[in-house]
Amino acid sequence: MTGVKEVFEPLQPGHAGMYTCGPTVWNFAHVGNLRAFLFYDLLRRQLRASGFSVTHVMNLTDIDDRILDQAMHAGSTITEYVKPFVVAFFEDMQALRAQPAEVYPRATEHIPEMLAMIATLLDRGFAYAAEGDVYFRIDRFPRYGALSHLDRAGLRAGARVAADRYDKESVSDFALWKKAQPGDENLGAAWDAPFGHGRPGWHIECSAMSKRYLGETLDIHCGGVDLLFPHHENEIAQSEAANGKPFVRVWLHSEFLSDATGEKMSKSAGGFTTLRDLVAAGHDPLAVRFFLIANAHYRQRIRLSAEALHASAEQVRRLRDFADRVRRLDPASGEDQVLMARVAQVRAGYREALEDDLNLPQGVGLVFELVREANAALDEGNVGEAGRRALLDLIEEVDAHLDVMGGEEPGLAEEVQRLIAEREAARSARDFARADRIRAELREKGIALEDSRDGVRWRRVATERTE
Ligand SMILES: [Zn+2]
Repeated sequence: MTGVKEVFEPLQPGHAGMYTCGPTVWNFAHVGNLRAFLFYDLLRRQLRASGFSVTHVMNLTDIDDRILDQAMHAGSTITEYVKPFVVAFFEDMQALRAQPAEVYPRATEHIPEMLAMIATLLDRGFAYAAEGDVYFRIDRFPRYGALSHLDRAGLRAGARVAADRYDKESVSDFALWKKAQPGDENLGAAWDAPFGHGRPGWHIECSAMSKRYLGETLDIHCGGVDLLFPHHENEIAQSEAANGKPFVRVWLHSEFLSDATGEKMSKSAGGFTTLRDLVAAGHDPLAVRFFLIANAHYRQRIRLSAEALHASAEQVRRLRDFADRVRRLDPASGEDQVLMARVAQVRAGYREALEDDLNLPQGVGLVFELVREANAALDEGNVGEAGRRALLDLIEEVDAHLDVMGGEEPGLAEEVQRLIAEREAARSARDFARADRIRAELREKGIALEDSRDGVRWRRVATERTE
């Protein structure tokens, strides 16, 4: 709202209540949506790392114009139509390692809360009925436009827009309730209300559901920058007019993801990429995760490309390889003062970056510098137990945000050790063909062997690209 960074102070000390606009489940989420969802996840993780308990609420919009259209074409009800997309949303979140929110309220399950808020707005003169619809009267709310710094001169009193989504140009009274159309009943998309049979507009759900789960004033509200106007502006107007209290203490918005041509990715515009598309093209969901949260600050635009995803995959591989190497380390008896001082310095810089408006890219840059230095120390074989512990602690702290270095695949180390032993046995028996086959088999799994004075070491390497 102020447009500047501020120190976060919640209403209740030690607790952060956070409402984040979730998916409209009319289709699969595209990567631009996923960027916003992973930004919510990063914020949630940082709040927890800073010692807050978090109540995170993320709505599922399971009724809007597009869902009605699609359900009608599919000859089903809206409830049936959205089911596979709800399942897909949770699958995507899990594949991308987003921590689950505490509550995922659905619009269609909170109609009574919406009816109550609309009734209050009518009572207080902030809303009016017209031809079976109910509209919010924006000229009754002088703060309208404060979040998006809208020029109120362009505001047309009394002009009405019933569509769930509309352009920046049309600053107009917006629908709180929409009169049932013929066919809505069969779609399961019409409810009884004192102001007529119909269904809620898109914006009222977030005001009603955030109040239900987080109260009248929220600590934090997030969304993609495309929701700033009109959606969040409308949420503020509805909530503050109905409750007579400030709605949100801190707003955060994540920037667009553009496709390879530089256009904003949007489902409505047709050309969009889903996580499924990327996985089918051979990309690892963890590389997608890293690309979306660690490649650029959340307030910078980023462009999706195969090159950028390959670069992220390589960064994830280097981090995982390093973490595995430290975990497996057989410590030397050396002095670790220099290494430990560097780890402390990087940890301090990393924390400072994350505490400064979630600057994960800067924090990760520091970590990569340390990875280079520590790998060199590991190559020299002079990292002791104290150094190993310090590195493991830092890995854990960084992975609380990134979540890409977590343990190896179960059983991998045992499997690799077994194959290394078999290869050694084959070499002793001078069966070099067999030894080479085992080495090639490991290479296909992304494991490279290095013969050293102290025996055979292994590390993770990039697998061959298949596309
Ligand atoms: Zn919302």
